[in-house]
Amino acid sequence: MGLMDLTALELGKKIKAGELTAMDAVEAALASIEEKEERLHSFLTVDPKGALEQAKAVQKRIETGELKGPLAGVPVAVKDNLCTRGMLTTCASRILYNFKPPYTAEAVANLQRAGGIVIGKTNMDEFAMGSTTETSAFGITRNPWNLEHVPGGSSGGSCAAVAARECPLSLGSDTGGSIRQPSSYCGVTGLKPTYGTVSRYGLVAYGSSLDQVGPIARDVSDCAALLEAIASYDRKDSTSVQRAEYDFTSALQEDVAGLRIGIPKDYFGEGLDAQVRNAILGAAKLLEKRGAILKEFDLGLVPYAIPAYYIISSAEASSNLARFDGIKYGYRAGEYEGLHSMYKRSRSQGFGAEVKRRIMLGSFVLSSGYYEAYYIKALKVKALIKEAFDRAFDHCDVILAPAAPSTAPKIGASLKDPLKMYLSDIYTVAANLAGLPGLSLPCKLDDKGLPIGLQLLGNCFQEKKIIRAGYTLEQALGGHFPAPKEVLKETGGKCHEQTV
Ligand code: GLN
Repeated sequence: MGLMDLTALELGKKIKAGELTAMDAVEAALASIEEKEERLHSFLTVDPKGALEQAKAVQKRIETGELKGPLAGVPVAVKDNLCTRGMLTTCASRILYNFKPPYTAEAVANLQRAGGIVIGKTNMDEFAMGSTTETSAFGITRNPWNLEHVPGGSSGGSCAAVAARECPLSLGSDTGGSIRQPSSYCGVTGLKPTYGTVSRYGLVAYGSSLDQVGPIARDVSDCAALLEAIASYDRKDSTSVQRAEYDFTSALQEDVAGLRIGIPKDYFGEGLDAQVRNAILGAAKLLEKRGAILKEFDLGLVPYAIPAYYIISSAEASSNLARFDGIKYGYRAGEYEGLHSMYKRSRSQGFGAEVKRRIMLGSFVLSSGYYEAYYIKALKVKALIKEAFDRAFDHCDVILAPAAPSTAPKIGASLKDPLKMYLSDIYTVAANLAGLPGLSLPCKLDDKGLPIGLQLLGNCFQEKKIIRAGYTLEQALGGHFPAPKEVLKETGGKCHEQTV
């Protein structure tokens, strides 16, 4: 067993006890990345020199007793839409191919304050728009469980890196499911916090009213510990919420006695793969055996979540992405005639097809004449969805649902039909529209050997309830989910091309 087979908390404990150093942990992560990247391509940037420097500084502070936290010395991969000072932050887009931010995102700074070590930046769908990591301008990432399948998206690189034991932890972002869905496809645990819990300062905005940064880990305990490290009130983010407490790890208890678990019938109907359905209902039974009370109910409005989400997220994206014009930073077209032509060519050449589709859709729904019919209507639907969840949480503590309608699709199967791809976000987008926290964790393998993930949703600020239910379920399922060892042993050819 190598060091990367340890969970983050186990690794942190050994470093604290003096059995290992932060440098040992970083070197083990770098060796694992070196061995697997040719096949996986989870990372866009790996920073061996910087990571070792951070490790040395952290190690000193651990030895002087200054750093006492459970994650001190643990290597962490960071999604490439979180700004890291002096380190490339591309959002997997050609338009930011050379962007080195002058500042660090607050979530990453918090992680570093806790002694976490940034080992590199992970691949993703371009500007977090997509569900497969295939819209990256810099080549695809493969699923460590089966290299012919996608890792999900948009935080596909972050989830593949953790699943493949390249590092124990990573950060992702979730606008409509981008932490929960790839966690489910890769057999790892990911949490989207209540909107406003983790600062968005330094997260390159996609849909500002929906975006949240969150932890990705091997198990619920690591996930809770990483959330505790990154969550904070931040005056630099006007939507940051001052919470009553920032303790999440005290919820790591094996106890669901009396916990009311809602099962939305409308999430288990047509379109859900039978194996996924059975695995999730099986998990519900395990929780019931431990004392939880299962309650079936109709959530309602489910068919409206996808259209509302894609209208709102594209509207916000079209506005947020207006800043990328090739003037101050990023890609600029080589040839142009005058200012207008420079903008046009830089943006035409810098953005990929999916991003352009969202900018066009967003500009359309915000244009006068259509604004009321689409954008305002979508905001009304958003409010109704929030009300539907409010009613549900009157009679249950936690909602149990699938994270995705199926396990990971094959590479190349999704992009041909974008509408179908959008529909596969059916179980995740509602939590973003309502601002709710959601935890995705693996519960079983399907008959193709691919992980099946389930999702626990809580009311706003009720992360502790979903962490408690998730932790209990994880124990009931036998502790840690296995690693995708066999596939990673296979030798593969070169699996990606750098396109810029
Ligand atoms: N698949 C969704 C989209 O493309 C969700 C993305 C995300 O959460 N960043 O918008």
